[in-house]
Amino acid sequence: MAKAKASKKNGQAKAERAAAEGEQAAREAIGRSGQSGELPSAVSREAPPASSEAVHKSMVSNKRANTKPELLVRKRLREAGLTGYRLQWKVPGRPDVAWPGKRIALFVNGCFWHRCPHCNLPLPKSNVEYWHIKFERNVERDERNLAALRDMGWRVHVIWECQLKKKVIDDTFADLLPVLAEELGKELKAAEVSKPELPA
Ligand SMILES: [Zn+2]
Repeated sequence: MAKAKASKKNGQAKAERAAAEGEQAAREAIGRSGQSGELPSAVSREAPPASSEAVHKSMVSNKRANTKPELLVRKRLREAGLTGYRLQWKVPGRPDVAWPGKRIALFVNGCFWHRCPHCNLPLPKSNVEYWHIKFERNVERDERNLAALRDMGWRVHVIWECQLKKKVIDDTFADLLPVLAEELGKELKAAEVSKPELPA
């Protein structure tokens, strides 16, 4: 059954893997939203309007907290001494991390749902039109939220999930932390590179 797939060329296979990861994310999100966990047909079937609207609402209102990327980001912030943040603060977009007093927001965006400009993940293969519209709405909503926050005098940062991969995460925070520290008026704590040997 996987014969056709096995013979795909590398580039194609890579794109398919990315699409599959995306669909996996979609399935997980739909599963979480209380829809049946019939996989993978839950995604590939045409989503009925009522139910997809329910899923949509649920996803917007109950934004998932404490995802792995968020935890990674918060760990780095703590290590750098940039604490005192609040989670899912009630301002437009419910930023994952926020310093409300300083009006600084940090969004940790999943590349699939928020359509990362770096990754350019392909659309899921089935129901292309449905996903196209859905993602367009997601992107527009993000833009509206960021604009609303900036209008309110907030400074906004966005970290993409792919910027947290092992190979690039140090670079990501090397860029971000000094900017954040400056905005927050805090001193960056030096990273604990290696522990010095204890004197005997
Ligand atoms: Zn990305």
